[in-house]
Amino acid sequence: MTYDPSNIFARILRGELPMHKVFEDEKTLAFMDIMPQAEGHTLVVPKCPAADLYALPAEFAGPLLATTQRVAAAVKKATGAPGIMIAQLNGKEAGQTVFHLHFHIIPRRHGADLAMHAHKMEAPEKLAAMAEKIRAALG
Ligand code: 5GP
Repeated sequence: MTYDPSNIFARILRGELPMHKVFEDEKTLAFMDIMPQAEGHTLVVPKCPAADLYALPAEFAGPLLATTQRVAAAVKKATGAPGIMIAQLNGKEAGQTVFHLHFHIIPRRHGADLAMHAHKMEAPEKLAAMAEKIRAALG
């Protein structure tokens, strides 16, 4: 898949659009999903132009998984959710809507259905408060 540098996450990475940052290092960035499927829904992206998993350079694979693991633990701690789902969609037929590779970190609770994918915007102040809780849980 060709990479379109005007996609929304590329624009976030370039600082052209705002986001609620949770964690950042040399090769990765984690921030709140603007239309969460559950409270605490967080995204992790590599800082390289990869549209999907197949396009990820090997040197980003380890750092991307390490950030996902670390942030997932913090999301679990911050939300108190007993389950954490990691999702990653490749291709529009799989439901992918933003064509910059990302992992979804989604808290799950018994009996709580997921909200619809990329459907309803969350209030910025709620996202900011949750990002702060997750950053605190990262230590
Ligand atoms: P995908 O469908 O590609 O797996 O996931 C894209 C995710 O990006 C969706 O969960 C959607 O809610 C989220 N999203 C879409 N636009 C924005 C945005 O402008 N900012 C943030 N933070 N998340 C976004």
